[in-house]
Amino acid sequence: MQVNLGIVRHLINQVAKTSSVGLVILAASSMTASSQTAAGFDKWIRDFWPAARAEGITANTYNAAFAGAQLDMSIVKRANNQPEFVKPIWSYLDSAVNETRIKNGRKMKQEHAKLLQRLESRFGVDQHVLLAIWGMESAYGAIFKNTALIKPTIQSLATLAYADKSRAKFGREQLLAALKILQNGDVAPKDMQGSWAGAMGHTQFIPTTYLAKAVDFDGDGRRDIWRSVDDALASSANLLESAGWETGKTWGYEVALPKNFPFELADGKHSKTLAQWAELGAKRAAGQAYPRPSDDARLILPAGYNGPAFLVLKNFAMIKRYNNADSYALAVGHLADRIRGGGGFAGEWPRSDRVLKRSERKELQTVLNKLGYDTGGIDGRLGSKSRAAIRNWQKRNGHVPDGFASGKLLEALKTGR
Ligand code: CA
Repeated sequence: MQVNLGIVRHLINQVAKTSSVGLVILAASSMTASSQTAAGFDKWIRDFWPAARAEGITANTYNAAFAGAQLDMSIVKRANNQPEFVKPIWSYLDSAVNETRIKNGRKMKQEHAKLLQRLESRFGVDQHVLLAIWGMESAYGAIFKNTALIKPTIQSLATLAYADKSRAKFGREQLLAALKILQNGDVAPKDMQGSWAGAMGHTQFIPTTYLAKAVDFDGDGRRDIWRSVDDALASSANLLESAGWETGKTWGYEVALPKNFPFELADGKHSKTLAQWAELGAKRAAGQAYPRPSDDARLILPAGYNGPAFLVLKNFAMIKRYNNADSYALAVGHLADRIRGGGGFAGEWPRSDRVLKRSERKELQTVLNKLGYDTGGIDGRLGSKSRAAIRNWQKRNGHVPDGFASGKLLEALKTGR
């Protein structure tokens, strides 16, 4: 097995040196498929047993956990499928915070009113944020009806551990944690279901997060985030509370900025009080005053200076513990506001702006590097270093320094204007 994999990698390297990117991908995936077999997977499961036993897993639990587990190469394919087209933030938010999800969130708020009240008094976390996370993670549990999306967790994690080199460590760690959950008797093996990446139940906890944060809130002695809404929402509330959720405070505010605003401060890092931001001209888009002007906030412009702007507070960072992306936290915060009864954003998204494809993002980073700006590598991901590099280039070339990578920006960079 190991010898075969070594040869495959050698061949892939050879192909990579001599042909186009498209050919490399084809060659890599067909070789991966042929080198990983059902028999190899079964052997891997047998070989993994000592590691599980060392963590206190019994033979009975182990055998029950893996009964019927099969190598699922569709997971590996999915894990390594990086789409060339990156969704603009407005498309992401359109689908994340859609009318159905808002309506169902309000319905769930009524249906689970007593539970949500108890959760607020026990954990101090805003019930609308809990509803929004539930809506984002599993469409309030509706995801379980979509059998194409739901997979046996043990099988998914074992497949990643065995067949996906870049996720093998993650797969092994999570698999051990999943086995511990089964060992505890919180859930039966057949009911331990989740996403291809091992996120489980109504609120999509990975096994290590489950072990650390899941709680039994309906009092039946089991932490059942798969079938108990009480347990699932309490587990989310517990995660946010222990991360440092500030009770009674919001995630953030949409703001309107004047034309002469110092946009280089909108990097998501500069922290000022709401009162200081207001002095610079950042007023709430809805017109009201800030309820607590002394709260610290950071400014983000998810679609550049032509789109809506947001002052985000500490709780915004708490939501990101769930999923470390501004777009995700913005969707959760906005969905929470909408479920509460609030309206849409006041600002317009620059929907006519073209966002860059992955290959163009790499091109952008390459050009910036050549001009002497550090983008933290050329990976097609525009993280804080890349955005800082863009801002610096914009500042020196007479553009508004908002760090936003649009089609126009790439053109300007390439022509040097
Ligand atoms: Ca329970």
